Amino acid sequence: MHCPFCRHADTRVSDSRAAEDGATIRRRRVCSSCDRKFTTVEQVVLHVVKRSGVLEPFSREKVIKGVSKACQGRPVTPDQLAALGQEVEETLRASGSAEIPAEQVGVAILKPLAQLDKNFESVEDFAREIDDLKIAAGAQELPIGNEPKPPSQKKHEQAAQEPLIG
Ligand SMILES: [Zn+2]
Repeated sequence: MHCPFCRHADTRVSDSRAAEDGATIRRRRVCSSCDRKFTTVEQVVLHVVKRSGVLEPFSREKVIKGVSKACQGRPVTPDQLAALGQEVEETLRASGSAEIPAEQVGVAILKPLAQLDKNFESVEDFAREIDDLKIAAGAQELPIGNEPKPPSQKKHEQAAQEPLIG
């Protein structure tokens, strides 16, 4: 790795240690030319497994772009989107797998998204919007949005308001 200060091509590792979560390794490096020290982080490259079986590198930007589309016209800031992207990536990394099914990416998006904008009535609404936009790094559809819905609590309220006839 090049030295980030003087661009010298030869640097050596002086120390390596795993991060607390075990998902990354930090290395202290020393430039053999200018003697300055810097730190690098080594982590697994995540891949998304599309339905077709094709592997695609996980892209946080792609997730953010998709969610940003789904949230168009809603009070969601770029900072919030960036935090969501990070949370999604952390969730996926915490799974410990290097190859993540596209559906799992979609599911990982739903929770932070629901916290981001409470104007949506339910997580199912998010799922539907995401599904429509075919985001989540290539997911074709989300299982959570396609599950047959159990009779919801909301319906109870509506039923109670209906005038009793007969
Ligand atoms: Zn240097």
